[in-house]
Amino acid sequence: MRLCQKFGVTYFRAQIFKPRTSPYSFQGHGESGLTIIDFLREQGLKLVSEACSLEQLKVVETYADVIQVGARNMQNFEYLKQIGRSAIFQRRLPYVMLKRGFSNNYKEWIGSAKYLEESGVPEDKIILCERGTRDGVAFTGTTLDFAMAYKAKYETPYQVIIDPSHGTGARDLVLPMAKLSLGLSFDGMMIEVHPEPEKSVSDAKQALSVPEIEQFLLDHISNLGLRQEVGGIYAN
Ligand code: PEP
Ligand code: MN
Repeated sequence: MRLCQKFGVTYFRAQIFKPRTSPYSFQGHGESGLTIIDFLREQGLKLVSEACSLEQLKVVETYADVIQVGARNMQNFEYLKQIGRSAIFQRRLPYVMLKRGFSNNYKEWIGSAKYLEESGVPEDKIILCERGTRDGVAFTGTTLDFAMAYKAKYETPYQVIIDPSHGTGARDLVLPMAKLSLGLSFDGMMIEVHPEPEKSVSDAKQALSVPEIEQFLLDHISNLGLRQEVGGIYAN
């Protein structure tokens, strides 16, 4: 959080609900985490937060500046149809970040974005997030599809960001992929960081340490997209 403030990184990802592969893994703090959310907002950070159901959305839409629709929910059409509809959503008009499902193609990704638009999310409030394909080929298990993301950036009205953390699943590959995405001028990226990465209760293998991300920010400060509101690095 302090690093975000130091570098003017506007958006911080804080999830009170976490979709997890196993029901026995940490599921997020739930509504008891709202005190942490309040604290982060008081620090002037804008928050990115995932909701996985309408019930969770009712909580998340009260505070999030970016609502994350995770890869697993990308084609939950009935959920997508509801997202823009609620009164609170219409009043606050947060961004909606739609992660590409890990086996979804371009047409399916854009089709899901259209569902959001049909529900009332304006096109300039939709952010597409490339998080990699599970293709059974990559030794990390995931291939980050820059070509598809690039096509989306130049053929749709939506902003497009890259998630090199889930897109590689491996700490040593996160920053090289982040550098590539800077070269392709995407609108931002989302990178998972932890003060003690190996102790992270979620995605420990891909979390960067604070000094690692600090060095990256220092090295690339001039070409990081911090000039636009949604062009920042998204931190977790
Ligand atoms: C996440 O962003 O932490 C996450 C679980 O991502 P995805 O939905 O892309 O798997
Ligand atoms: Mn994660």
